[in-house]
Amino acid sequence: MRITSLLLLALALAGCSREPRSCAVCQRAECKGLAFRVTLTTGKTVETCCPRCGLHYLETTQQQARSLQVTDLATGQWLDASQAVFVAGSEVSPCAPSKEAVRDTHGCCAVKGFDRCNPSLIAFASADSARAFQKQHGGELLTWQQMNPKPPTN
Ligand SMILES: [Zn+2]
Repeated sequence: MRITSLLLLALALAGCSREPRSCAVCQRAECKGLAFRVTLTTGKTVETCCPRCGLHYLETTQQQARSLQVTDLATGQWLDASQAVFVAGSEVSPCAPSKEAVRDTHGCCAVKGFDRCNPSLIAFASADSARAFQKQHGGELLTWQQMNPKPPTN
């Protein structure tokens, strides 16, 4: 009992997650406000820590998705991925482990090391929120359709 609660505490501290779930792709704790949910045609749901891992999951899995949902960073509410506006490649990457910049082989120009969750991909329900976030943190505004060729099958 005691061990279990210690373990839960450690998990809670490990990431920015307030939920005891971990990403189906990178195994990191899910971040509230960033989670991505795939509902397969079998009815099974798969959650990832962020839309970037969600895209990776969709690319690598052979499963058919029935619905794709993202979390609006501004409100924490789920919404259909096709309705969301995304900010890609901003300076904010909440689910990546290290915020340290890495120098390239010439010792120049800080570059971010490879990470499955980078470049970060953050979803918003409103284009205004996405634009405000982009203004502060940089990145590129994208729709789901611009990133993902395959619509979910109904
Ligand atoms: Zn992940």
